[in-house]
Amino acid sequence: MSQLPPIDRQGAAGAGRTDTFQSLVLDIAMTFINLPLDRIDAAVHAALGQMATFFRADRAYVFDYDFTAGTGTNTHEWCAAGIVPQIDSLQGLPLAAMPDWVEVHRRGECLVVADVGNLAAGPLKQLLTAQNIQSLLTAPILCDGDVTGFVGFDAVRERRDYGEDEHYLLSLFANLLANVSQRKRSAETLRESEQRYRRLFDQSRDALMIVTPPDWAFVACNRAALDLFGVADESAFTRLTLVDLSPPLQPDGSPSDTWALAHLASAMAEGSALFEWQHQRLDGRQLSCSVLLNRTEWFGQAAIQGTVRDISAQKRAEIALREQSDALHRTNARLERIAHFDTVTDLPNRNLLADRMQQAMAQVHRHNTCIAIAYLDLDGFKEINDRYGHDVGDRMLRALAQHMNGALRAGDTLARLGGDEFVAVLVDQDSNPQSCEPVIARLLEASAETVTIDGHALQVSASIGVTFYPQHEEIDADQLLRQADQAMYLSKVEGKNRFHVFDTAFHRAQEGHNRQLEEIRQALAKGEFVLFYQPKVNMRTGQVVGAEALVRWQHPRQGLLLPDTFLPFIENHALSLALGRWVIDAALTQIAAWRRSGLNLPVSVNVSASQLQQDNFVEDLQARLRTQPEVAPELLELEITETRALDDIEHASSVMAACEAMGVKFALDDFGTGYSSMMYLKRLPARTLKIDRSFVRDMLVDEDDMAILRGILGLASAFRRQVLAEGVETEAHGAKLLELGCELAQGFGIARPMPAAELPAWVASWHPPASWLLIEQR
Ligand code: C2E
Ligand code: CA
Ligand code: CA
Repeated sequence: MSQLPPIDRQGAAGAGRTDTFQSLVLDIAMTFINLPLDRIDAAVHAALGQMATFFRADRAYVFDYDFTAGTGTNTHEWCAAGIVPQIDSLQGLPLAAMPDWVEVHRRGECLVVADVGNLAAGPLKQLLTAQNIQSLLTAPILCDGDVTGFVGFDAVRERRDYGEDEHYLLSLFANLLANVSQRKRSAETLRESEQRYRRLFDQSRDALMIVTPPDWAFVACNRAALDLFGVADESAFTRLTLVDLSPPLQPDGSPSDTWALAHLASAMAEGSALFEWQHQRLDGRQLSCSVLLNRTEWFGQAAIQGTVRDISAQKRAEIALREQSDALHRTNARLERIAHFDTVTDLPNRNLLADRMQQAMAQVHRHNTCIAIAYLDLDGFKEINDRYGHDVGDRMLRALAQHMNGALRAGDTLARLGGDEFVAVLVDQDSNPQSCEPVIARLLEASAETVTIDGHALQVSASIGVTFYPQHEEIDADQLLRQADQAMYLSKVEGKNRFHVFDTAFHRAQEGHNRQLEEIRQALAKGEFVLFYQPKVNMRTGQVVGAEALVRWQHPRQGLLLPDTFLPFIENHALSLALGRWVIDAALTQIAAWRRSGLNLPVSVNVSASQLQQDNFVEDLQARLRTQPEVAPELLELEITETRALDDIEHASSVMAACEAMGVKFALDDFGTGYSSMMYLKRLPARTLKIDRSFVRDMLVDEDDMAILRGILGLASAFRRQVLAEGVETEAHGAKLLELGCELAQGFGIARPMPAAELPAWVASWHPPASWLLIEQR
């Protein structure tokens, strides 16, 4: 009975009726297939009526089993006219009371009761009898093999035998209902899963939104999305489209709408798409977003889910990082440039020059050629700077740098050392020094080009010094530069706007000079200098008026050296000051020693102009005098030598005045030799003039010298200064001087300079020659 008979086998039931039965079957089947779920109840009622009417059943119905609750419930009922509805009393019937009934359905079989009267007494018979049922037919509703309920016909007015057609239709109907309930159930599951999706969607911390075609309006979005986009609530959001929430242009410069649509279309076609999106919040804030699009379904509709992440901070960090590294790059490049190039002229600077020189010098050895280094100093540039200002000066330098650079060949380097000094490295030179002349001439020409700046036509020239590499002796880049610099200096001295080639022989002499300096420094440290003393006397009275301290170098190998052999080396050098201080100290010590031994002799010390012009000369002298308290300052006389070198007479004069105030006396040494002795005489507060020994020496034979001598003596008396004649080599000289009225003298004719130890005995024993005592002053 559970087997459904195929429809075409129903022809046996009679033609007219079969047609009607078949159309009923079709009608009901068609109704239920694809029946919208919300119209089920009405359709069930209609079908129950149709079927019951067709089979003249008194009642047709649907029951649901609820095995969890253990009950059965009448859900739908149709009754023929005059038949009492039972549905209200058939709710939640306990199934336990009629286990056999349920068991039949469970087996998937129709349950037929042909005569209720024949049923054994029990709850089932009771239940059916209470409804006045005489016969019934029920078919189980089977969903996936599980019984969920049943459909049935009751016969109330008379007992009935339900035949195959009834079975068939009822079973079909049960199947249709099973199908419907399956659809219902899956719809429920779907709804449940959609609701679950929606719940999780809402809870997700990713910003999620759903857009649907064709207009891609937002149909849903979660809290995170609202927060991200700064939208108050979902309803405000769902009125928008993606394009409403974005600046007109996207990162690639394309319009937002086409950009967005392109990605949505590609996600629709390929299932997903990933892109970055510039987003403009409604409050105006700009966001950078990473957007992942996924094709999905939203409550049965094709849709795209967008997962959006705010990557603004990351972007900003990236940009900041990029900017930082760009800035670093720029700074580096700038530093690099500053490190190697001169900022004014853009020429290589001293550092890069050193590199280039090294390279060029290395090439020389590899290619067996020669390079020339030209040191160039502009003539008269300082005047332009002073007159027109540094700005004009800089522009001038820039222009000249260009001109001069243009005068060189490729491979040569022109660098600026600073100020108006440049160096050219000329590679691939011939070993013949003259070969560089053309390019040097071009450099001279270029440096002398007229440059017009701010309407001023400006022109300078250049002094150039050239040296070559390699040389006989190994030489480094610094030495080469110094050589070229020295040669340049010669060009300056010789009148500028010319070049000079460094003379290596001359250079070697210079090197000797440096060695000499070093030796003198050592000698001073080792105490190899000594003072000799030459007496100064009054030729008329025979009195020894003092002694001049003269420095000697007691050289360990060369013996006693006179000042001419070493003083010139330290002229203009700090060493001369150190030696000068040593001399004063030694002289003071000597005065003190003599005093202690009973000899009270003034000592004069030679002081060079540069020593006198030292800033702290007065304080220094004072300090030195203080170390010898028993020496009266009056016992010290300073002979100023090289008065020519006094470049600030005013200052020298004030220094001398300050010293005189302490009691120290002054003499002007070698008087008569300088051009402006007259001026010194007038302006320097010196008590004594020492007549240079050249006049004294020749006065006996040279009328001019005699005239000068007389002149000096006249001047001295006019300015009330003492006069002392140096270089009195013979008695005759002394006699002549006495005749002229010059009583004070010093010279080999009286005594040679001697060691300090010999002086006291000399002083004690000296007498002037007899001839001098006879001379009457004229
Ligand atoms: P000066 O100051 O004119 O010293 C006199 C020089 O003439 C001494 O030479 C002395 O030996 C020399 N002399 C003295 N009488 C005669 C003479 O009759 N005939 C000749 N031909 N020469 C005579 P000295 O000692 O060689 O000194 C040379 C110069 O060296 C000095 O000339 C002085 O300018 C300088 N000098 C010497 N000692 C010192 C010193 O301690 N400091 C400084 N700054 N210069 C010194
Ligand atoms: Ca002297
Ligand atoms: Ca002298």
